[in-house]
Amino acid sequence: MEIARTLAQLGAAREALTTAGRRGLALVPTMGALHAGHLSLLRAAQSEDYAVVASIFVNPTQFGPGEDFARYPRDEAHDCAMLAQAGCDLVWLPDVGTMYPPGDATVIEVGGPALGWEGAVRPGHFRGVATVVAKLFGQVQPDAACFGEKDWQQVQVIRRMTEDLALPVRIMAVPTWREASGLAMSSRNRYLDAGERVKASALFAVLSRARDAIRAGELVAASVATGGAALAAAGFAVDYLALVDAQTLAPLDRVVGEARLITAARLGTTRLLDNVAI
Ligand code: AMP
Repeated sequence: MEIARTLAQLGAAREALTTAGRRGLALVPTMGALHAGHLSLLRAAQSEDYAVVASIFVNPTQFGPGEDFARYPRDEAHDCAMLAQAGCDLVWLPDVGTMYPPGDATVIEVGGPALGWEGAVRPGHFRGVATVVAKLFGQVQPDAACFGEKDWQQVQVIRRMTEDLALPVRIMAVPTWREASGLAMSSRNRYLDAGERVKASALFAVLSRARDAIRAGELVAASVATGGAALAAAGFAVDYLALVDAQTLAPLDRVVGEARLITAARLGTTRLLDNVAI
């Protein structure tokens, strides 16, 4: 597995990568602190015959003031060992100065699916995400890029941007990888103490129950109210629990077309996201 830390190294490593006989190059963008969910993105790319470039960059511009940028877990050596073991071809480890060069003055302004939910709770978050992903696309020039459905809204924001800017990258959405308890894997799960970890599994259980109730014909407002109360009873502070259009993220009061039930809720100081298809 090659490791590149500068644009020159990335260019050389990319050149040397043989995609002969393969479908092309797939990018797996991450912020490190890798877990089995990240590796499932890698495997999704490999199973479609792509050579894989994984990037690790804790992107300061997608964190708001008072968020966990400074304490976000970083463990480059362990991450690289996991990626090598998983058969990753190349790791891209840019520094802040490479991603935001002196005089940097350009951002991707996102609307549409970026406006509500995470976009409302974390102003500027998706601008930071879209900007860094556009830069990664420019640097790596992948044929495809893999994103996790765990961050459902993020996938829709990236799809919108890719289509709007006619970026020649195939966006692959990969199903959420879960622990046996149902808890969606996340780098932030390591903030949970033992007691919170037990409570955290209620998030997926509540979502699944609300999904089943909606599918069985219960009114969306009733299912969401019951789910919100169950989360509060389990110790969560709920930021939102809502039925939305799967692509536009517009709120829905009944199921029309492809719908998604999305939630963000806090356990102590840890914010967890999850979503399910209806
Ligand atoms: P992060 O390092 O948290 O920025 O995540 C990097 C990528 O991995 C994003 O596309 C995430 O949506 C994806 N990801 C994170 N956790 C999971 C999971 N449990 N299952 C699937 N994809 C995930």
